[in-house]
Amino acid sequence: MDELKLCPFCGRKAEKGEDRESYECVMCKDCTATVYSMDEDTDVELWNTRPIEDELRKRIEDLELGMLEILASTSIDEAQQIYEHYLAKE
Ligand SMILES: [Zn+2]
Repeated sequence: MDELKLCPFCGRKAEKGEDRESYECVMCKDCTATVYSMDEDTDVELWNTRPIEDELRKRIEDLELGMLEILASTSIDEAQQIYEHYLAKE
């Protein structure tokens, strides 16, 4: 079984379980967000599927690579200025 990702709503831990009607489920321990399924692994797969999060992570990775390419083609002084400008925005 794959490790459960943190809750997409509150960021806390989730756990696998079974509801009163014997559906498999993954439930957040804190906010009770829940995913149900009829078989054991589908609930975990559904819980861990995060298309928007995955897309944003890929976009951040692309932007960081683009920034490294820009920094690699500039002088050390220009790179320092760009880096400080980037840090000021965080
Ligand atoms: Zn939650």
